Amino acid sequence: MTAAVTLDSVSCVFGHGAAAVRAVNAVDLTIEAGEFFTLLGPSGSGKTTCLRMIGGFTLPTAGRILIGGDDVTMRAPYARPVNTVFQDYALFPHMNVRDNVAYALMVRGVPRSERERRADELLALVQLAGVGERRPAQLSGGQRQRVALARALISQPQVLLLDEPLGALDLKLREQMQSELKALQRRIGITFLFITHDQHEALSMSDRIGVFNAGRLEQVGTPRAIYDEPRTRFVAQFVGAANVLDGEAARALTGRPGAMLRPERIRLGDAIGARASGPVSEVQYFGAFTRLKVQAAGTLLQADLAHVPAQATPAPGETVHLHWDDRAVHALQDAV
Ligand code: ATP
Repeated sequence: MTAAVTLDSVSCVFGHGAAAVRAVNAVDLTIEAGEFFTLLGPSGSGKTTCLRMIGGFTLPTAGRILIGGDDVTMRAPYARPVNTVFQDYALFPHMNVRDNVAYALMVRGVPRSERERRADELLALVQLAGVGERRPAQLSGGQRQRVALARALISQPQVLLLDEPLGALDLKLREQMQSELKALQRRIGITFLFITHDQHEALSMSDRIGVFNAGRLEQVGTPRAIYDEPRTRFVAQFVGAANVLDGEAARALTGRPGAMLRPERIRLGDAIGARASGPVSEVQYFGAFTRLKVQAAGTLLQADLAHVPAQATPAPGETVHLHWDDRAVHALQDAV
């Protein structure tokens, strides 16, 4: 099957000489048709630049971009079978919602009755039937987000690019929209390329994730592979909490030169058979779990314990014994 999007050694450098910024550095990536693919990474890592190059708003300084097998590297945005939902939605405030959604069809000269019918269909698809007459200002943040989505879908793109589309929403609404967006993508079957710096959003919504770090794609994989088998320290620490162990501590605790151990894989137990023992230096209560920081084997280990009753929670200074299974230890490729 033809890939939805292919990046072939794509780079983007802004500026010249000493001031040059290599925003995207020789990225190779294949996104399959119908995938919900997320680019995840910290601020400034190159996610938006990558998305803008696929959308045609920024030209790469090297490499090729293919969409549906066609080389679109030098094509203008409107000549690409993609559309973009921006974080600020960019709705036209003076137009009603239906006209906002139908805008791309109006530009193309589609007759009013036809474009209104299609706009109403899309408003129904995003569960906004009946608000077509309102102005964007008369909608909630979540509703405006859905209008932006409907507006981007009306031109039937092969790929929908979404640049932090949930970033402006409060946490509860954001979680609701995460489920809705994922369900919508399944229903319509269009390839989604989603950008976020929120690891939970990426893990819960995506078929696959590409983790960006300093302009490079550091790892591409399913959410489970990224979380359970990170290749590098950066991925281990950026996606979820991690005990990254190097050198002496790694060898003493895991028998490997460099390894990762997720805090939730550590249990408290008896002195006999313990992997490590030491005093608790900090106790943090998070509701769903309690985080202990324990000084052991010359390092600070973090253990996240679920369901610990108050009376059973160790106090700072108390010595605890830490246990984990061999399976919980994952070797890292870039250990120092
Ligand atoms: P954020 O999550 O903050 O949007 P990002 O991962 O999307 O970050 P980019 O916006 O792609 O990162 O930026 C990557 C790098 O390129 C940054 O160092 C940024 O300052 C730089 N950059 C982006 N756009 C330009 C530009 N037009 N001119 C110069 N430098 C730029």
